[in-house]
Amino acid sequence: MTRGVALLGSTGSIGTTALRVLDRQRHRFHVAALTAFANGELLGEQAERFSPSFVGCVNNGAGERGSWRTGHECLVEAATRSDVDIVVNAVVGAAGLDATLAALEAGKRVALANKESLVMAGDLAAAAAARGGGEIVPVDSEHSAILQCLAGRRPADVRRIILTASGGPFRDWSPERLAEATVDDALHHPTWQMGRKITVDSATLANKALEVIEAHYLFNLPYDRIDVVVHPQSVVHSLVEFVDGSVLAQMGAPSMELPVLYALTHPERVPDTGVQPFDPVASSPLTFEPVRRDQFPALRLGTEAGTTGGAAPAVFNAANEQAVALFLEGRITFNDIANAIGSALDALGHTPGGTREALLAADSSARRHVRSLFSC
Ligand code: NAD
Ligand code: MG
Repeated sequence: MTRGVALLGSTGSIGTTALRVLDRQRHRFHVAALTAFANGELLGEQAERFSPSFVGCVNNGAGERGSWRTGHECLVEAATRSDVDIVVNAVVGAAGLDATLAALEAGKRVALANKESLVMAGDLAAAAAARGGGEIVPVDSEHSAILQCLAGRRPADVRRIILTASGGPFRDWSPERLAEATVDDALHHPTWQMGRKITVDSATLANKALEVIEAHYLFNLPYDRIDVVVHPQSVVHSLVEFVDGSVLAQMGAPSMELPVLYALTHPERVPDTGVQPFDPVASSPLTFEPVRRDQFPALRLGTEAGTTGGAAPAVFNAANEQAVALFLEGRITFNDIANAIGSALDALGHTPGGTREALLAADSSARRHVRSLFSC
């Protein structure tokens, strides 16, 4: 029997990648549910092709398709259905939180691309998984790499993990040039094709900060054992250093198809043709360099927020989401993004977390704080 998959955010970059994987793997998985935000046209084509038993469109403006569910609740509905075994959460931003928590509580595997939900509410996610029997398997390529390197190892064997970062489009830009960076500049990622929000996050390194916090929760490691190194080719997806000094890396072409597939099949591996064969010579040279932390303060701010705990990671995440939205609208500069995050954390970084309501209140306050900084 094939396993049922709910794909939340099916019209996005990860969503469409996941459908390519699921199309090739129809003998193992079937698409039981699809949700999107507002792109009813593409969602309709996908529903035609995969015949899910549930379709949800948060803003189904046209309202012609009577059987589709609408409103934000459709994400949780899709994630908790009885014909769903695996929830691929490929929604962008804090909007994915409730579906992650509900799926874990309902005992599902969550193939998690929506790192924001784990960053906001890592402790709540762990509690929901413990109560309901669900589990998170990461889709993020770095965390997928680490999971693959850790297979069969005991936690005590690990000295530290090293997340690789491409460095983004501004890796070697001078501070003067960075101050003038435009939206178009930020959207030109050198190695990955992704949604707009994560592409800007990759340019500020806020994405790497989110990934440090994500790794802390996924692998239960303290922040001083999670390092970041810049690796512009994005071929080494991350590394694990063990207590005997041995280092394992997972490598391959920069494609999200393998991490999506592995999140569906972990701990098994299944034959698939989605990833181009690895050619070490063509991939050469592979280089590594330190992060220019002074130029990209979002990485430090996020790591500090993670260490502080409570609602600080949710404040970091919400301030970043709001600032990135304003940047994409052309209302603030590139450097304003990190400045806004820093200001929000100064004002709200010691807010307690603990409950979904407290975290959502901190999220709203952080967004308000950022808007007020720029009189928006
Ligand atoms: P995207 O913008 O391309 O797609 C986002 C999807 O979420 C769309 O289907 C959209 O309809 C849906 N969506 C947006 N807002 C929503 C809302 N308020 N309610 C319900 N649905 C909503 O983004 P993406 O690049 O596919 O990224 C998705 C997630 O995966 C993000 O958390 C990102 O950080 C993570 N991720 C992406 C990549 C990548 O290669 N794109 C890699 C690693 C992790
Ligand atoms: Mg990543």
